[in-house]
Amino acid sequence: MKRTFVNLDQLKEITSKYPTPFHLYDEKGIRENARRLHQAFAWNKGFKEYFAVKATPNPTILKILKEEGCGVDCSSYTELMISDAVGFSGDEIMFSSNVTPKEDFILARKLNAAINLDDITHIEFLDQVAGIPETISCRYNPGGEFTINNAIMDTPGEAKYGFTRPQLTEGFKMLQEKGVKHFGLHAFLASNTTDNHYYPALARILFETAVELNQETGAHIAFINFSGGVGIPYRPEQTPADIFAIAQEVRKIYEEILVPAGMDDVAIYTELGRFMAGPYGCLVTTAIHEKHIHKEYIGLDACAANLMRPAMYGAYHHITVMGKEDQALDHEYDVTGGLCENNDKFAIDRMLPKIDIGDLLVIHDTGAHGFAMGYNYNGKLRSAEILLKEDGSSELIRRAETPADYFATFDYDDDLQSQFINKYPEIFKI
Ligand SMILES: *Cc1c(COP(=O)(O)O)cnc(C)c1O
Repeated sequence: MKRTFVNLDQLKEITSKYPTPFHLYDEKGIRENARRLHQAFAWNKGFKEYFAVKATPNPTILKILKEEGCGVDCSSYTELMISDAVGFSGDEIMFSSNVTPKEDFILARKLNAAINLDDITHIEFLDQVAGIPETISCRYNPGGEFTINNAIMDTPGEAKYGFTRPQLTEGFKMLQEKGVKHFGLHAFLASNTTDNHYYPALARILFETAVELNQETGAHIAFINFSGGVGIPYRPEQTPADIFAIAQEVRKIYEEILVPAGMDDVAIYTELGRFMAGPYGCLVTTAIHEKHIHKEYIGLDACAANLMRPAMYGAYHHITVMGKEDQALDHEYDVTGGLCENNDKFAIDRMLPKIDIGDLLVIHDTGAHGFAMGYNYNGKLRSAEILLKEDGSSELIRRAETPADYFATFDYDDDLQSQFINKYPEIFKI
């Protein structure tokens, strides 16, 4: 059974100040999990987690992770800006982008971020637009299928990312000629896997490749970056990944492959997003309608614009009806938002307790790739984000959008702006 990190009394207090829907984050959970990760990889001197900003691009969350010793993984201009503003600098920032615009590389170099190149053609491009740093990383795509114990985890051969194996050797040589002294190696081969064998299998590939590259080119490999991909148990019956078991298995492979090759100074990096924040956020929403046609529907004040994963991937997100945790799951519902899209369903044929209008529902595991994937379709507005602090109090860490935000990019048109202001003065507060 999945439990919420917040109880009904706390939620009633928060909703008396801030209307639903909103995403709520659990500071205690985020901090404790980050400490477990660091403890698990403490055997590796240079270990660093670069939190994937795209998962939860909120400065307050980034600040908490910074206090816990994390860096940030960015892939765009604005992610670099937010990281800079929060106080990350230099090698606390990993820039793992693809199809990278010139301006992004220029800002990454200005911040002295560690750059992880997605493609061999980016070597010349980066050199021309911003220059090549002394330390640089390359992303590896081994192609084909990625299997663990004969089970297909993913298909790198279909993925747009990374260098091929021959390109890595060629790229390292090109970079050496351009003055690079230290190298990183990166790969992201499976997403959202709770299988404890993922990082170890990835480690074996990357460690062996690093030894080969070192032998072929003499390059000094300073770090190996496992990127993201460690998953979370969205479903109640799933077993969570065991980060201590994962780290111990990686250590064995490190000692088996890197240490005998004289590469015992290689730092392990991760760029976890989902694992760091996913379980420590939820979407709090209110049941505002019920509908009885060919199926039974519950309509919420949240919609796919607040949480895209069910509509986009058919992803499962557990739902708790607050205050009814111990009631029988004897009603079958489709739980929907109000977008004019039939895939706007948070749950299909879900067994839940009887839901009444006004019930508060918690949609679990939205702390990563939740708010962040939000959008404005149907003129829906992005929700607030609220932090449940360690002392039990709550803090607004991003206000909800208003129609004024939604129309702000039309501001260049003075006539249109005055129409809005005259007709809706209470929203435009003039
Ligand atoms: C998305 C992404 C991550 C984070 O992935 P999670 O599944 O959230 O752990 C890390 N690195 C890169 C390059 C990514 O694109």
